[in-house]
Amino acid sequence: MAALPKKKVSKARRGKRTLAHGFKPAELVACPRCGKLKTTHTVCPHCGYYKDRLVFEPKEKTKVTKAKKE
Ligand SMILES: [Zn+2]
Repeated sequence: MAALPKKKVSKARRGKRTLAHGFKPAELVACPRCGKLKTTHTVCPHCGYYKDRLVFEPKEKTKVTKAKKE
């Protein structure tokens, strides 16, 4: 006889284990305006544009650009 589990795994225990199986990383696409990666269907955080419309003025100095320069 093959090895068998000693106890039935309850629905709650099985659910807790498999909870994260459906999680997916956010889809990233290149921004058509600045070329940097952004999540789909959102305003680009780098240039502030969404579908050729300026939503907000991007700040020139950010922590990301500072880290790249140094
Ligand atoms: Zn952009």
